Amino acid sequence: MAPASVRPASVSRILAFSCVDGPGSRLVIFFQGCNMDCPGCHNPQTIGQCNQCGDCVTHCPNGALSLEHGLGQRKRRRCDRRLCQGCDLCLPHCPRSANPNAQSFEVSELVERIALHAPLLDGVTFSGGEATLQRQFLARMCQELDRDPRTAQLGRLIDSNGLLAAGHWPTLLERVDGVMLDIKALDGSIHRRLTGRSNAMVLESARLLARAGKLIELRWLVVEGVNDGDAEVEALVRLWHSLPSPPPLRLNRFRHHGVSARGRALGETGPSTMEALHHRLALAGVSLLPLVTL
Ligand code: SF4
Ligand code: SF4
Ligand code: SF4
Repeated sequence: MAPASVRPASVSRILAFSCVDGPGSRLVIFFQGCNMDCPGCHNPQTIGQCNQCGDCVTHCPNGALSLEHGLGQRKRRRCDRRLCQGCDLCLPHCPRSANPNAQSFEVSELVERIALHAPLLDGVTFSGGEATLQRQFLARMCQELDRDPRTAQLGRLIDSNGLLAAGHWPTLLERVDGVMLDIKALDGSIHRRLTGRSNAMVLESARLLARAGKLIELRWLVVEGVNDGDAEVEALVRLWHSLPSPPPLRLNRFRHHGVSARGRALGETGPSTMEALHHRLALAGVSLLPLVTL
C-alpha cells in the first residue's frame, strides 16, 4: 500500500555546505516557522509563517516577489527563483517575521536536492525555525532518504529548541542519529523573557533524549546580564550532571549580528564573560566544546 501523502514543507533556506551545524560536512535545511519567539534570534525571518499579506512585494529590487491569484481566488505570495538574488533586502519588511523567499517543497524534491550534493556530504542537519514543527514531513523524508541508495549513507541530525511533547519524539528518533538541543535558561521566568515560552517541555526533552542516547550536543546562548548569573550557572551544572551520558556543552556568545530591533535591546556578551564562564563550567566537571568567542 502506498504511504499516505504528507503536506509539503515550508523551507526558509537550504545551505548546501556547512561545517558548523554538526560533525563533518553537512547540508542544512532551515525549516520555516518556530514555536518560540526569542528576541535574541539570529534568524528572526525563520520564526513566522506567511499570511500572504503582500507587504514585502514592493521591497524586492529584482522584481522576484509578486502576489498572484491562487486556488479559490485567494492571493498568494510568490517568489520567482529565477529572479531572486538572495540579497535578503525583503526580510526586514515582513511584519510576521516570515521569509518572503521561503519555498514549499515536496518530500521527493528535497530528497533530490540532497542527493545532488550527497557525494560531498557526511550528513544532513534539520534546523530552523524549529524543524520538529514539520515532523510528519521530516519523518517521511528520512524514510525516503533511507530508501534512496544515493542518500542512505548520510547521517541525520536535528537542531531543536526542545519544545516538543514527549510523545512526539520517538517517531523522529527512530529516523535520526541524534539531536543538538538549545537550552536557553533554567529559571522559568528568565526562559520566558528569552523565548516567550515555558522551559518545562524543553527540560523534559533534554532528559528524554539523553535517556534514549540521542542527545549529542547541548547549546547555551549566553546573554550577559540575563542568563549568566550564579543561580543559572549552578542550575545548568546540576542539569548536565543529572543527564545519563551527558553530551558536550557548546557555549555560544550572544551578538547583535542578524538580530531584530528587539534583540538589540539586549546587551552583547563580552569575550571575557565567555572565557570566565567556560573556565567555571570546566572546573565544575562539565565537558565543553572549544570556545569560539568571535
Ligand atoms: S528557538 Fe531558535 S529559531 Fe526559534 S525563535 Fe528562538 S532562536 Fe529563533
Ligand atoms: S532575497 Fe530575493 S525576493 Fe528578497 S529582495 Fe532579494 S531578490 Fe528579492
Ligand atoms: S512574507 Fe511576510 S510580508 Fe510577504 S506576504 Fe508573507 S507575511 Fe506578507
